Amino acid sequence: MKTALITGIRGQDGAYLAKLLLDKDYRVIGADRRSGDGKSWRLQELGIENDVEILYMDLLDLPRICDVVRTIKPHEIYNLAAQSFVQASFDNPLSTANVNAIGCLNLLEAIRHYSPGSKFYQASTSAIFGSCQGMQSAESDFQPASPYATAKLFAHHSVANYRESYDLFACCGILFNHESPLRGLEFVTRKITDGIAKIKLGITDKLTLGNLDACRDWGYAPEYVEAMWLMMQHDEPGDFIIATGETHSIRDFVNCACNIAGIGIRWKGEGIQEKAFSTDYKGQMIIDISLDFYRPNEVEYLKGMSDLKGWKPKVSFHELVAIMLNADMERLSK
Ligand code: NDP
Ligand code: GDP
Repeated sequence: MKTALITGIRGQDGAYLAKLLLDKDYRVIGADRRSGDGKSWRLQELGIENDVEILYMDLLDLPRICDVVRTIKPHEIYNLAAQSFVQASFDNPLSTANVNAIGCLNLLEAIRHYSPGSKFYQASTSAIFGSCQGMQSAESDFQPASPYATAKLFAHHSVANYRESYDLFACCGILFNHESPLRGLEFVTRKITDGIAKIKLGITDKLTLGNLDACRDWGYAPEYVEAMWLMMQHDEPGDFIIATGETHSIRDFVNCACNIAGIGIRWKGEGIQEKAFSTDYKGQMIIDISLDFYRPNEVEYLKGMSDLKGWKPKVSFHELVAIMLNADMERLSK
């Protein structure tokens, strides 16, 4: 039986990856920074909270990490833990850098010294590209545009250094945005599906958003964790891009979710992005645009060219929005 250690197991990807690996008969150990009882709404949602072993390990505590890695010597280590919200990274740049950059280095050091045979996966991100024109690929430059992205780029380069210097099997998955009903409510997709479900059910009449013109390449998270696992089964370690190759604006996402919810929408103030404005929503719903949700620096456009052999996205943009909206409708109707 293979053993996998997943940091960030209580997050969206951690929960889906744990489920995937359990289905493949792995022993799954989740590292958690809290010394709680190991419960998590996402693991509960997937019905696996009693099937994973949770141990206390903060990514900033090197002696503890060394202890865990030396004792367990996992076959595969997936580093998914992070301060993952770009907007919050502008407010907390130092703690973001510590977790997202130094946290990864701590793991690499522990592996190098105590378990060099462990395979290592690092959660890199399309945010390291920043906004560049056209499709982002392995040839594209890195232009990180947030404390989140600069810290992740440090980790990305560190993995390559350790792979080359110490012959570790260490991979980076440069994953573009991926979403699901388990996505945190602070991210724009889930905020929209939750907000529109609440409007549809009469719980609220308002949704407040920021920049509607930013474009993202959004995929379906359960498919993206399969890509993580696939990378770790390759003969050679490397860096791989995982994306759908399609991009949509935030406005497209709102429109799509409203269509599925069966609510007509009329945008007012089209093109006005610098000032706050309201949108009439059939006389009953307001979409507020607030500068509170604008960022000091924005990544306007992401669209990626996937390059992992044997992996292809299946769930379309429309299907993704429907999955998320229906899940929020069901949850809120209970
Ligand atoms: P989440 O924010 O849902 O999960 C991140 C997890 O990291 C949380 O469970 C959090 O714990 C944990 N964590 C934070 N700080 C620490 C710490 N100091 N020590 C231990 N654990 C910590 O993120 P996702 O699941 O969406 O993403 C997984 C990874 O993939 C992240 O690294 C993210 O940056 C990266 N990524 C995600 C993309 C996406 O679209 N989802 C795209 C590209 C990359 P707690 O529950 O206690 O807060
Ligand atoms: P990110 O790509 O990791 O930053 O994922 P997010 O889901 O947080 O944001 C995606 C895009 O949506 C960014 O360009 C944001 O500026 C934009 N956006 C617009 N309104 C909002 C909002 O209300 N909340 C969030 N989180 N993002 C918003």
